[in-house]
Order: sequence, then C-alpha cells, then structure tokens
Amino acid sequence: MYDVIIIGSGPSGLTAAIYTTRAALKTLVIAGAKWGGQLMLTTEVENFPGFPEGIQGPDLMANMRKQAEHHGAEIVDVNFIKGDFSKAPFKVEAGEKTYEAKSIIIATGADTKWLGVPGEQERIGRGVSSCAPCDAPFFKEKDVIVAGGGDSAMEEACVLTRFAKSVTIVHRRDEFKASQAMLDKAKANPKIKFVLNSQIVEILGENVVTSVKLKNLVTTEESEMSTNGVFVAIGHIPNSAVFPGIEVDEKGFIKVHEHTKTNIEGVFVAGDVHDRQYMQAITAAGFGCAAALEAERWLEHQEG
Ligand code: NDP
Repeated sequence: MYDVIIIGSGPSGLTAAIYTTRAALKTLVIAGAKWGGQLMLTTEVENFPGFPEGIQGPDLMANMRKQAEHHGAEIVDVNFIKGDFSKAPFKVEAGEKTYEAKSIIIATGADTKWLGVPGEQERIGRGVSSCAPCDAPFFKEKDVIVAGGGDSAMEEACVLTRFAKSVTIVHRRDEFKASQAMLDKAKANPKIKFVLNSQIVEILGENVVTSVKLKNLVTTEESEMSTNGVFVAIGHIPNSAVFPGIEVDEKGFIKVHEHTKTNIEGVFVAGDVHDRQYMQAITAAGFGCAAALEAERWLEHQEG
C-alpha cells in the first residue's frame, strides 16, 4: 500500500514525488513507457531557473528523476492502464500489476496538437516548435510563422516579435477564437502580419525549415512562403481521457475544485492535464509541489 501514487513523470509528477518522499510518504510514480513528458522532446531549455547557461530538456528530466529517486521514490517505466478511484484505497493498474494507494496525484500532462502535415514532425527542434517562450531567442532577426487563431497564437506571436524580424499568423478562418484584447494587441504590433482563410499544408526545407506551402481555403489556390520557423499554436490535448469519474471541462482539462483537488476526495491533479493557461515546465513543477503538499495535508487529516 502506497501513501501516494503519482501518474505521470513530467516536471509536475517528478516534483510532486520529490515533495511527497521528502515528507516521508511512500510514493510510487507510474512514469509511462516513455517517461519524462514533453521536455524529453525539446533541446535547449533556457527558461528553467537554476541553469544560467540553459540545459537540455532530457538532462533536466534525468536530474529531476534522479532527485526523486534519491529521496526514495519508486519509479516504474510502465504505462497506466486504468484506475479505480470509486473508493479508498484507490487501485491503479499499470504494466502487468495492480497497485493500491491512499491518495493519487494525476500528472499526465497534455500533448501539443500538431498540424499533422508533411514535413512537420521531422523538423521539430529544427524550425518547428510549439513553445515561443522556449524557442523565440533562436529566431533573432528571422522570419517566422505562427499557426492558429486563438489566444495562444496571439501570445506566441507577440513573444516572437521580441526577437524575430517578422511574424506571420496563418489562420484557417477570417474570424478569431482569440479574445478581442489579445487580437487587438497582435494587430497593433507592426511586426505581425496576418494570412487568413489559409492552412499550412506542408513544411519544407532541406534540413531546417525554409518555407511552407499554403492553401487558401476560399480560392483553393496554393502558394509557397519563405520562413525560418513555424510555431504551432492550435491547442493542446490533455491526457485525461483514461480517468473515469474525474470531472473535466469541455476541452478535456481536469477540473480543479480547490487547490489541486479534483472532484474525488484524495485524488489531486498537477500540471498541463489541468492547466490550460501557462503550460510551462516551471509552472507544471510548481503545481506538482502544490499537489504534493495538498496530498500530504489530506493524508494527515485522514489519519489524525
Ligand atoms: P483555442 O482552442 O482557443 O484555439 C485554437 C486555434 O487553433 C483556433 O483558432 C483554431 O481554429 C485553430 N486550429 C485548431 N485546429 C487546427 C488545425 N488542425 N489547423 C489549423 N488551425 C487549427 O486554443 P488556444 O491554445 O489558443 O487557447 C486555449 C485556451 O487557453 C483558451 O481558453 C485561451 O483563452 C487560453 N489562453 C489564454 C492566454 C492568456 O490569457 N494569456 C494565453 C493562451 C491561451 P478555429 O478558430 O477555426 O477553430
């Protein structure tokens, strides 16, 4: 019987594990067969405090894992299959075993929604990105494209203008999901241009990105536009579908009732699986810390 089972091994899950183990709680992390989350797919991380020269995403995750293990976390690299959170002790089926715990922290993250066009996946980190705050400095004085028409696209575009020479927002409609305030801000920025009613249908380049093929969805005309980078900001897919009984919002993000608590007592949530606002490694780590402290308090209260 574990005090806490943490499902997920990105910055939120591993930070939660560091806190729960240091609080002497018997902790199991269901890390997934591919452990470490989205940072395992990035290169240089320059915005995680404590690394003045930056750090490679996989190295940062390896450090977090080592730190959690150093404090006694048991980490298994198997996939979560299903959970029974209907009554305590909670049951978690993962790999070929069933584990039991008094409390659960869900930290399964979210995946970037990609365009799914030819030339995209193989150029992630070589001109294709989903995180302007992480990668904008690599595009100093370059021309970049942002795909999307929501708040994320507007925000990514504004962040990019601090470095890039020009930013073109390519959006599939001529109306926007973005809030008026964020749209106005983007429109007022002299570095930002808009290409509307258009879809990126292919990303091109020998090794790094050099252009995209665009399709005008009204005229069906295709054209090529030179660019050094493509920032995809068309939303995220939270990994929440596998938790029956856990309340989610209309986009699938887990609903937080109060201080990392889900609708089920004893089940807490941390990171991108509930956070549709910030989605940064450092905020995920912060939520992991908060969920661990809440789980610790809740367990104390149960036993006290
Ligand atoms: P949204 O779902 O709001 O917007 C996604 C955008 O991407 C839409 O314009 C959509 O087009 C477009 N899109 C979706 N799929 C495709 C596709 N396959 N090809 C081309 N375009 C596509 O997601 P966001 O990530 O922008 O925002 C998520 C939430 O986070 C929102 O609630 C937002 O308000 C919030 N947020 C808030 C911020 C802030 O306040 N600072 C910053 C960032 C996000 P279409 O419009 O045609 O559907």
